[in-house]
Amino acid sequence: MKIANGRVVALEYKLHLGDGDVIDASEPGSPLYYIQGEGNIVPGLERALEGLGKDDTKQVIVPAEDGYGPHDPQGVQDVPNDAFGGELPEVGNQYTARGPEGEVVPFVVRELKPGFVVVDLNHPLAGKTLHFDVAIREVREATDEEKEHGHVHGPGGQHHH
Ligand code: ZN
Repeated sequence: MKIANGRVVALEYKLHLGDGDVIDASEPGSPLYYIQGEGNIVPGLERALEGLGKDDTKQVIVPAEDGYGPHDPQGVQDVPNDAFGGELPEVGNQYTARGPEGEVVPFVVRELKPGFVVVDLNHPLAGKTLHFDVAIREVREATDEEKEHGHVHGPGGQHHH
């Protein structure tokens, strides 16, 4: 069975940014499960996997615009030190804040300036070219319920009622 829209795919992957340093990977023996065509993974990777089958491997290079999008300079903002309650964050680390509706907003600290912390609200992989090494472990039809929910149930997927 080949990867096509509406099918469940079990994917082992490694991600690097061109220098070979792996920054993200599936756990050995515990692949990522997703439904093709549901936007569960970045669009450039989803497109490149179309038509592959079990045990196929592939190297996929995804430009930023088909990955996590371009880096938006407006996402880089100066926040007064006061907002951090006296304990300044560390440059390069990722933190989360609460947005106006209580949503979780992740940000990366870029720089400490006198009186201000420079934060970057872009996704940490925005503007980056993504290099994936992938191996397909399983391809199956999604159940009607999975199609309705837009995500995978059971092993490797979500468990809920
Ligand atoms: Zn569900």
